[in-house]
Amino acid sequence: MKAAFYTLGCKVNQYETEAVAQEFLRHGYLLVSEDEEADVYVVNSCSVTREADRKSRQYLRRMKRRNPQAVTVLMGCYPQTCPGETEELGEADIVLGTEDKLSAVGLVEQFLADRGRIDKLTEKDENGAPLRPSGPSGCPVLETGYNDIGTVVSMLGSRRALIKIQEGCNRFCSYCIIPHARGPIRSRSPRSIEKEAVELLKSGCREIVLAGINTALYGLENGFKNDMEWSAADKENVRGIEIVVKLLNDLPGDFRIRLNSLEPTVVDKDYLASLLKYDKLAHHAHLSVQSGSDSVIASMNRHYTRADYLQMVRTLKSFDKDYGITTDIITGFPGEKEEDFEESLRLVDECGFLHVHAFPYSERPGTPAASMPGKVPVNVRKERVARLIKAGDAASLRFREGLAGTVQRVLPEECCGDGMWRGRASNYCNVWFEAPAEPDLTSTFVDVTIEKTYKDGVFGRTGTSPESDCIADCAADARKGEQMSDCIFCKIANGGIPTNMVYEDDKIAAFRDLEPQAPEHVLIVPKKHIQSLDQTTEEDAELLAHIMLKIKEIAAILKLENGYRVVINTGSDGGQTVPHLHVHLLGKRAMAWPPG
Ligand code: 5GP
Ligand code: ZN
Repeated sequence: MKAAFYTLGCKVNQYETEAVAQEFLRHGYLLVSEDEEADVYVVNSCSVTREADRKSRQYLRRMKRRNPQAVTVLMGCYPQTCPGETEELGEADIVLGTEDKLSAVGLVEQFLADRGRIDKLTEKDENGAPLRPSGPSGCPVLETGYNDIGTVVSMLGSRRALIKIQEGCNRFCSYCIIPHARGPIRSRSPRSIEKEAVELLKSGCREIVLAGINTALYGLENGFKNDMEWSAADKENVRGIEIVVKLLNDLPGDFRIRLNSLEPTVVDKDYLASLLKYDKLAHHAHLSVQSGSDSVIASMNRHYTRADYLQMVRTLKSFDKDYGITTDIITGFPGEKEEDFEESLRLVDECGFLHVHAFPYSERPGTPAASMPGKVPVNVRKERVARLIKAGDAASLRFREGLAGTVQRVLPEECCGDGMWRGRASNYCNVWFEAPAEPDLTSTFVDVTIEKTYKDGVFGRTGTSPESDCIADCAADARKGEQMSDCIFCKIANGGIPTNMVYEDDKIAAFRDLEPQAPEHVLIVPKKHIQSLDQTTEEDAELLAHIMLKIKEIAAILKLENGYRVVINTGSDGGQTVPHLHVHLLGKRAMAWPPG
């Protein structure tokens, strides 16, 4: 059976789709991309705008036409907020809210058995009373407490991953349906977050993105920090999202922490300033301002002023003038006059944003704003969006021009062909630079000296000065068979780091694994740097033979007379996490086949 997934909306949805997909995988399904032929189509919906609702319905209809026998599942915010509407949708066989997503696979099996439509949001008991009573907005009441679904691997790229830390929002901005779709704030326990982070870092992740419905509200509903083994002063001062940032910042390893967004309805300049001391936190903040006009901000029920917002921006920019700030702005909110809109344009001018997301106001039934006077015609909303996009583009261009001459630490994400790589700087700006396709750079941070703006980002040269070309040097070093200065196994094999060595000669070293997977677990590595088995050539034949022949000698030293296993992981799918060729030698327990 094949299952396809279509995700709309936010990063939390992306994360949850991954969790649901992993459930399907565990039940033996094959996962295929959203537009392939499948037996099950799952839509993880969004309800932030009317447009998102429409896209969910359209996708389901298209897929039903493509395969009329397929089972379709509609889950998430759209049915949660419009249960009456989705009850009528013939194209959805199974309808679920935001809290039952993980039950999808079981319900698909139930549906396949009896072909009876399932709608969890409008289910009634024998007496016809709804199983899920409705809340004040008419949406089925959401359970309380964070529903911890355990460790989920949700990658945004080869080395970037999402961690969901929080659910729900209790801010009730007057236009926003999310508190109805997602319920009140519920935070994931710090230890559960830490466990997922450790797992991700072990598999080579270099950037962790913390996602939630309103991440700045993290932990404010309960006293998590009392569970921490922290000093009294820390317990006193660390609050909200800082609990998670501090916890992850203390983990060993070279990686970055990025916050998905921070709400100015929750944070202020002091809250922001308290985060700046964490050196692993990326210099990037998504701070949704929504409008530059105080009267519009107030009627949005957002509790800050334009001046408060500017202070937050100044706090970040005076810490690092290249701090990347991105924002969301709504145009045509009820009562927004031309002068109000011009305040938004002026704010964009003043803040030095890296990027502005502009949205036309979209009425959400059940929200206070939907019945406010002063409706702005749809064509005016659209015309303002166009002007705002233009202002945002100009601001971004100015910000990126200002990066010329600076050195940005970039996490490379993809090789784009033409000898160019693209990655993100700490401030989230896209950075392009020239480097060969090999070696793979996705696991190493690269210093790039910025020269000019390029596409929606900037272009620069590797190295801290234009003369030195670190990447080319490193690649050349690797070819000459020398050590690579930032390679952990080069350091260990050549005595740079004390270790539990079991065998050594002039070509190879064998030492115990830091995290043994068997009572005896030794790594055998060449002393010269070769990235992986894939990178070996004819020239390495002698060295490879030497390693192979030494295995039995090392096994004898370790007294593995009952047998042992030899493993070489190659590349990311092969499970290789350290980019220096190594042979695992495992023994002193019976091994099963196939390995997990
Ligand atoms: P891979 O997953 O790349 O095939 O294997 C890498 C192995 O290296 C893992 O089993 C990991 O535990 C081990 N490892 C990573 N860093 C160190 C280290 O600093 N010292 C030692 N002894 N082993 C390490
Ligand atoms: Zn190395």
